[in-house]
Amino acid sequence: MAASDHISEPVQMEAHASRKRRTTDISDTLQNGSGQVISEADALIHSPDPLHPANHICELCKNFYTFGWVTGTGGGVSIRDDKHIFIAPSGVQKELMRPTDMFVMEYETKKYLRRPAVLKPSACTPLFLAAFTKRDAGCCIHTHSQWAVLVTLICEAGLQDHPDGSGKDVFAISEIEQIKGISRGGHGNSSTEILEGGRKAGNLGYYDTLKIPIIENTAREEDLTDTLEKAIEEWPEATAVLVRRHGVYVWGKDVAQAKTQCESLDYLFQLAVEMHKMGLNWVK
Ligand SMILES: [Zn+2]
Repeated sequence: MAASDHISEPVQMEAHASRKRRTTDISDTLQNGSGQVISEADALIHSPDPLHPANHICELCKNFYTFGWVTGTGGGVSIRDDKHIFIAPSGVQKELMRPTDMFVMEYETKKYLRRPAVLKPSACTPLFLAAFTKRDAGCCIHTHSQWAVLVTLICEAGLQDHPDGSGKDVFAISEIEQIKGISRGGHGNSSTEILEGGRKAGNLGYYDTLKIPIIENTAREEDLTDTLEKAIEEWPEATAVLVRRHGVYVWGKDVAQAKTQCESLDYLFQLAVEMHKMGLNWVK
């Protein structure tokens, strides 16, 4: 069933905006365009706009499922707008998700404004929050891509050690065109200028070496928070963190940038695995 099948008529947003939001009281009600009464919490996830975060996350997850990024309920996506964070729940079939499954948190207070009663919040939540608070990201994507897992295994085995890399804890690759899809400075806000050849001035160039830190996996996803936050601080240029034997977290200033970077990185991870099988070095 398409995510749009679940989108109700527009709610009266003027009325919504004029009311002072209360963080935990979801008994407040509003009327949607059909005169149907819905709670203030539900108004946060009802919109006819396909780019509204609640709708957009469902669409992204449906697409990412076909890439093998979020199969078996793994992985996830979170989007931050001005005041809210929208998060896909834990343990749901990501390709079948609906806007009504969405958790919504107030960014300033980190309190949930909307919690679906029958679902659990994502264990990725503190990791998404790290990207939002430490990098001012607008979107964070977590995949369980096999290519991401495989490059961490190749690094762990020390099979691609290179002076320009840093041993088993860093994935490094150079002189591959797709590197230009990755921003410098971790969030890409540095520049929107377009250089000759079409790449953004704020993105890596062909002759730059892309480096992504690798952190060790933990038994529980939320226990990754401390090491992920440390990696974000120690690698101010990084736009992603690989998790050994697990997957990758990728962020961007908005959905478009996070998605572009996640796709570019997955392309590079797959290429790296194939290069390794052919006995080729990742860093020239
Ligand atoms: Zn995960």
